[in-house]
Amino acid sequence: MTSVWTQTAELPRFPALKGDLKTEVLIIGGGAAGLLCAYFLEQEGVDYALVEADRICGGITKNTTAKVTAQHGDKYRQLLASLGAETAGQYAAAQRQAVEDYEALIRRAGIRCGWERRSSWLTAGEEAAIRFCAERYEHFLLVINGGSALDMSGICSIPGVNAILYLCQLGQEGGHAFADVLSGAVSPSGKLTDTWARRYADLPFSQEYSYLNGDLQNEFYKEGIYVGYRFFDSFGVEPAYPFGFGLSYTDFAIRCAGVSAPDGGM
Ligand SMILES: Cc1cc2nc3c(=O)[nH]c(=O)nc-3n(C[C@H](O)[C@H](O)[C@H](O)COP(=O)(O)OP(=O)(O)OC[C@H]3O[C@@H](n4cnc5c(N)ncnc54)[C@H](O)[C@@H]3O)c2cc1C
Repeated sequence: MTSVWTQTAELPRFPALKGDLKTEVLIIGGGAAGLLCAYFLEQEGVDYALVEADRICGGITKNTTAKVTAQHGDKYRQLLASLGAETAGQYAAAQRQAVEDYEALIRRAGIRCGWERRSSWLTAGEEAAIRFCAERYEHFLLVINGGSALDMSGICSIPGVNAILYLCQLGQEGGHAFADVLSGAVSPSGKLTDTWARRYADLPFSQEYSYLNGDLQNEFYKEGIYVGYRFFDSFGVEPAYPFGFGLSYTDFAIRCAGVSAPDGGM
């Protein structure tokens, strides 16, 4: 596998160890984990030696995308189910701290690695893949296999996205349902059960939600009764897709065919 690292960085070489070595701490492996251990031991003035069988950062580390994030949805789910909310919360706190520590380390050591704080939208690669297909295929359908509302601002502006099919929490029959919709055996008839904002920032208190307020165990809906569509309706905020939105292969109209009151009363 090639990566930006392997193409642009010269991995350092060191002479082989000759003879015995006495040390307080021996770190085996000069990947990201070993180097971080070495760095922090160095900061504490602890005597250590790091041995590497091949090249420094020549193992898995040379392939990393280097995304540093606390968003480990599956891991949180596993921990919640197996060890409970307190442990999951401790894990989340450790992950958030790691992001801070990375940033501090990069600034302190003046490492030029293009460190940037970014919101978690589509990755550049994912967006590029959508653009690639949208440009080349006349009939391009974007399928989102997701679990809740998304910020679609980056996606909606891509020319050539003819349609978006949202598969929401379908489970093991999802593939069959998708095939039925795609082949026209059934008409897509699902309607949104919530309101999707144009941009995440349009949601009230979006900057304080979930991990942003540091509390993964409690969520307080500070918007009070203006939760969901009530906020958009009451404050005139245009959503991307309103509550109940959903297109189909055809149009439907509902009209009253007539009203009658038997025996002149109800
Ligand atoms: C494609 C890809 C993308 C990734 N993207 C991300 C990402 O975006 N964010 C993220 O956080 N993680 C990412 N990861 C995971 C991350 O890269 C790894 O978790 C991390 O690099 C592992 O570091 P390490 O030091 O544990 O292992 P390694 O980098 O494999 O280092 C282990 C080192 O130990 C040496 N060694 C083994 N045995 C001995 C021995 N007996 N004596 C001496 N030396 C020995 C090896 O030669 C090797 O250099 C990605 C991984 C891959 C493959």
